[in-house]
Amino acid sequence: MKITIGHLYPDLLNLYGDRGNIQCLMKRCQWRGIEAETIPFELGDQIDFSRLDIVLLGGGSDREQMLVCEKLKEIQADFKAYVEKGGVVIAICGGYQLLGKYYKTDQGTITGLDLVDLYTEQEDGRLISNIVLKSDLFDMPVVGFENHGGRTFIGENKPLGKVLYGSGNDGKTGYEGVVYKNVIGTYLHGPLLPKNPQLADWLIARALEQKYHKPVELSLLDDSQEAEANAYVYHRFVKSGQA
Ligand code: GLN
Repeated sequence: MKITIGHLYPDLLNLYGDRGNIQCLMKRCQWRGIEAETIPFELGDQIDFSRLDIVLLGGGSDREQMLVCEKLKEIQADFKAYVEKGGVVIAICGGYQLLGKYYKTDQGTITGLDLVDLYTEQEDGRLISNIVLKSDLFDMPVVGFENHGGRTFIGENKPLGKVLYGSGNDGKTGYEGVVYKNVIGTYLHGPLLPKNPQLADWLIARALEQKYHKPVELSLLDDSQEAEANAYVYHRFVKSGQA
């Protein structure tokens, strides 16, 4: 078996080490004998979504998002078709905001990909914190770090999780991220996937199922260190409520 990961615009959207997420996906495949390849795309490259099994859209500053947004118009239709067919996407922070209709900032409005029915508006004060979620997709809490000025409104969509510590989508609803078909959008940096191996495996399993049209049960890996770190974060921030 083989998966191909498309990394969209890593030269612009790569805040807080989103490349670590790519390395994590590649390693977790290779450790199981699944071949994995990553194709980085730069602005202006043609993207053949039919060759991709996972698309990663990383975080970026408002300035970088503004630069990327012009190009998104060119790939929107193909990207939308990929998502509607069940293509796997992991979109982080700035990338999460770009999944939606728009991101309104003081400097202007950034038009998004409109792949998921959500939108983002900048408000005073950045939401910067460690963050812990409970998601019904995973047993382990999801842990990470958030730093965003935008508040994201997901309407009737399913959130990735309930915020146990931190701010999440808008600092008010108590929810974080979005799950739509095989797309996950989230504000969690960290990088996200090395800290949350169950989330990484969810993406890999969905990608293999899409590609090979059969249910996939991934072999277990030794995630004891990740579990220990996860439990530490949970106890420090959720149980004891310490910042
Ligand atoms: N520029 C966006 C914001 O501030 C996203 C930042 C990020 O990717 N960390 O809301």
